Amino acid sequence: MTGGHQVDSDTDQREVPLSALEHYAYCHRQTALIHVEGVWSENVETVRGDLSHTTVDLPGLQRRRGLTVIRSLPVWSHTYGLRGICDIVEFEKGAATPVEYKVGRYKADGPAELQLGGQALCLLESGFDVPTGYIYSVAERRRHAVSIDVDLLDRVMAAADAVRRLLDTPALPIARNDARCRRCSLREDCLPELTDGRQQTTPDLLAPRPLGQWRD
Ligand code: SF4
Repeated sequence: MTGGHQVDSDTDQREVPLSALEHYAYCHRQTALIHVEGVWSENVETVRGDLSHTTVDLPGLQRRRGLTVIRSLPVWSHTYGLRGICDIVEFEKGAATPVEYKVGRYKADGPAELQLGGQALCLLESGFDVPTGYIYSVAERRRHAVSIDVDLLDRVMAAADAVRRLLDTPALPIARNDARCRRCSLREDCLPELTDGRQQTTPDLLAPRPLGQWRD
């Protein structure tokens, strides 16, 4: 599926989905498979992720003691060509705090922080202060604070540019074929053992693929 990408009518810039920032940080080929080819497959990880999002995927608003909490809030940035949905944003006295839900354990500087940083860029463009965001780990049942600093925002902008280039590239990146592939729901679509650029001869596509042969 290639024709579905949105273009910002103000800037003629191809819009990058905020989720693509996380996919890009995880695997460039995964990003292209999802956002260029339109490939999607479920596995136990994606189902667990969906189930853990059931409360925050329901749009809603709550107010308590000066804090306004909005679930499933659409955000965008015309300047940086970003668009997506925040799981939760907490608003208080001109400041906005995005909270991104992730099913697994928190990894400092991991892919989820790029997505959170993209949300922060959108909220900044809407005129809010965004000093901090949080990754909520469902596995750990706790929030991890992420400082929204210049370094993170620079990384978000660089990743958005890289994703935009990827969306315009007709060829898929080669597969990683490393430990990340074990949990990737697109493994059967991607065939990383055959598409990692190491295959010198035409593979026998009818022979059973060996399980558990990874580069790392
Ligand atoms: S199977 Fe591996 S190389 Fe292929 S999309 Fe998933 S993570 Fe990327």
